[in-house]
Amino acid sequence: MSNCLFCKIRDGLIPSKIVYRDDVCLAFEDINPQAPTHVLFVPLKHIATVNDVTMEDRETVGHLYTAAAKVAKERGHSEKGYRLVMNCNEDAGQTVFHIHLHLVAGRPMGWPPG
Ligand code: AMP
Ligand code: ZN
Repeated sequence: MSNCLFCKIRDGLIPSKIVYRDDVCLAFEDINPQAPTHVLFVPLKHIATVNDVTMEDRETVGHLYTAAAKVAKERGHSEKGYRLVMNCNEDAGQTVFHIHLHLVAGRPMGWPPG
């Protein structure tokens, strides 16, 4: 997608603080962190929303979770815990239309979310 922010970050056209990369996904620091750890896990493949995830994408989406758990462990969050969130469309507050899994950790969090 030529006009997608996260495709541009993937391609190195926009700078980011990359924390993890493999052949399926990329992870970088959120520019507006909501907790001491706030990292976004983005598939290299452009997928606009969860509504666009197909059966073909199952491994890709599952991969985001294993990558996020790895980074959470590296940062010492496994025991106390962390939150993984993927927003879909307007009501959930999605603002970048290339799916991304938020890893938010390092402070207690409330439920239900706002
Ligand atoms: P969402 O609201 O779920 O679509 O999340 C989009 C996230 O992307 C927000 O938490 C933003 O702070 C973050 N974000 C927007 N622009 C950038 C950027 N250039 N680099 C890193 N994170 C960004
Ligand atoms: Zn994209």
